Amino acid sequence: MKPIFPSGGGHGEFPDEFRALLRETLGFDVERPFDGVERILCVQPHPDDCELAIGGTLAKLSRDGREITYLTLTDGSAGSREVPPEELKEVRRREQESAAEIIGVKKLLWLDYPDARLPYSEEVRAELMKVIRSERPDLVLAPDPWLPYEVHPDHRNAGLLTGEAAFFSHLPSVGDGEPWDVRLLGFYYTDNPNHVEDVGAFLGLKLKALKAHGSQFGEDWASWEVFVKGVARFYGKVAGFEYGEGLRILPTFLFHVNPLAGVL
Ligand code: ZN
Repeated sequence: MKPIFPSGGGHGEFPDEFRALLRETLGFDVERPFDGVERILCVQPHPDDCELAIGGTLAKLSRDGREITYLTLTDGSAGSREVPPEELKEVRRREQESAAEIIGVKKLLWLDYPDARLPYSEEVRAELMKVIRSERPDLVLAPDPWLPYEVHPDHRNAGLLTGEAAFFSHLPSVGDGEPWDVRLLGFYYTDNPNHVEDVGAFLGLKLKALKAHGSQFGEDWASWEVFVKGVARFYGKVAGFEYGEGLRILPTFLFHVNPLAGVL
């Protein structure tokens, strides 16, 4: 498959023999990236990111029997001008629980770092690895840390640290716990997707889940709806759908010493 948005970083052709090798040895086909995926860990910097980015895709996958767990890295306590942080933290936890129920996500895990202050550190990476090793997901998802113009450090750090944790989890000498080989790593909020999921039938559920985050989208819902639908049309257009959600999903080991990781 040619890069969907060539301006987003993917250039050139992925070698056919390498593509065939991935299919034969790992069962990975970029045209059907969720084949064989049973357990998904969706890591988000704040309560609401999984749903804002790929709520339609997750709703679709959960209804298809895949087991999805959210891991929220911060407490979301900075996301309001009016509500004090300690109060907001509780509100956002409840909002996330309601939204997850709408999407079909049953398990929610939290690391509770203070919002807007997620450090890029070995400590966070070790905690991520601990979760990965106990949850044993086939696919780990996180924000694309290389999204151009992403200014929020929690998002950049979440993407980098999750990628590192997923990559290191199979190594017995790194971190604690039983090693686990994460087969696939995927990035959402990406401008260089290699997969667009058709979410036309699930956009209503996504919007409903976002609405459950009342402290974030409640006041200015009409504008958010325009934004969410606009992004979904933007992704959908390149793949021939009315509404889409974009992801860059690859076998985890390809995210290292590989100039082709942005191409496939
Ligand atoms: Zn966020």
